[in-house]
Amino acid sequence: MVGASLAGVSTAIHLRRLGHAVTLLERATFPRRKACGEGLFPVGVAALRELGDFESLIEAGAPLRGVRFNAGESRATASLGEEPGLGIRRERLDAALVQAAIDAGVHLRTGTMVTGLHLRAGRVEAVDTAEGPVAGRAFVAADGLASSLRRMAGLDGAMGTRYGVTAHVLLQREPEPLVDIFFERGYELYLTPVGQCSANVALLLRKPGMHPFAGRVREAFIEQLQRHPAFAAGFTLEDAPMVAGPFRRRCHRAWRANLLLVGDAAGFYDGISGEGMSAALAAGPMAAHALHHYLATGSYDPLRAYDAERRALVRNSDLLAKVSLALSRNQAVARYAVGNLARRPGTFARLVAISSGTAPLATLRARDLVALATGL
Ligand SMILES: Cc1cc2nc3c(=O)[nH]c(=O)nc-3n(C[C@H](O)[C@H](O)[C@H](O)COP(=O)(O)OP(=O)(O)OC[C@H]3O[C@@H](n4cnc5c(N)ncnc54)[C@H](O)[C@@H]3O)c2cc1C
Repeated sequence: MVGASLAGVSTAIHLRRLGHAVTLLERATFPRRKACGEGLFPVGVAALRELGDFESLIEAGAPLRGVRFNAGESRATASLGEEPGLGIRRERLDAALVQAAIDAGVHLRTGTMVTGLHLRAGRVEAVDTAEGPVAGRAFVAADGLASSLRRMAGLDGAMGTRYGVTAHVLLQREPEPLVDIFFERGYELYLTPVGQCSANVALLLRKPGMHPFAGRVREAFIEQLQRHPAFAAGFTLEDAPMVAGPFRRRCHRAWRANLLLVGDAAGFYDGISGEGMSAALAAGPMAAHALHHYLATGSYDPLRAYDAERRALVRNSDLLAKVSLALSRNQAVARYAVGNLARRPGTFARLVAISSGTAPLATLRARDLVALATGL
């Protein structure tokens, strides 16, 4: 397996539980940072608890009770339900995950970059590392948004033109326990509490919006925050802003013979969706069961079924992102629609519940779309 982050560790632990020997190759050493908004939906917290004892990690994060959309003067809030989500720093989360993988008996090799695939008759026989090839019966690409395994396997699909810039800030006062999303002219800003007076800030921009960041990411990030009313009381930048993208990323399909793509490697819609971590954790058991059946029978049907199941999951979870992206294109439309959502909190709550995986798509009614468009 390649990539020891959420998707890779989740798949690896579930494969171990099914009795398989697993080698996990990871280029990074831990702890390490990762560009991310760091807001985990309640289903993601539940998926995390399935993997091991993460209670002290969850304690160290910040509970998230809702999602708030802000556009000009308009504001709308949706609850995340009974169980809270979690704002959690990736350097802590990812380090705890790799420890859980080791505890589960996964053979983890950090500091090991995979640089090539050995293909024979369409099947992967081994992957290349600086220390030599690593062979196996089946392979998992959990190597993230810019997956090189996806490209090497000829599964790369279309690529978008949006980027994210993220960093941590210290605030003058405790942020509210929700993900605050601001629709601004030319960009969106995500504010997610991750600890005491500490928050993750994610700026999401289309390619032209990235020009001021060229060669001066830190300065441009600070300037953008200084201009934003959410930081009027002041802030201190805690670490260097990190850039991620471009998104969206797609694959033709999430498998090729004995290679399975999991997590962002199988496709990523947009940083604005706020569900990538939950989806990556949830994909683990699905991928592990598909591989287990493939290894037992040699049939590709379980891998095909995994791809279909994954696409259905993503269709739902991308719903809020699609609505958000539509709003981000025009300030006036965003103000109007957010005002409508404020008048129709049930509609907003259903959109969030579907996207966060706690309600099926069928709970969205025609009148919700009317409410979004007209406020009636
Ligand atoms: C700006 C931004 C904001 C986001 N905000 C949120 C949010 O608020 N909430 C949320 O749920 N999701 C968010 N996401 C999405 C989330 O970060 C991803 O969906 C999630 O990290 C996917 O996990 P993964 O395990 O698939 O990939 P990753 O976490 O990217 O991990 C891939 C791993 O593979 C390793 N790797 C890569 N290539 C190789 C190689 N060749 N050899 C060995 N190892 C390799 C990497 O080092 C890494 O550890 C955001 C994303 C972005 C870009």
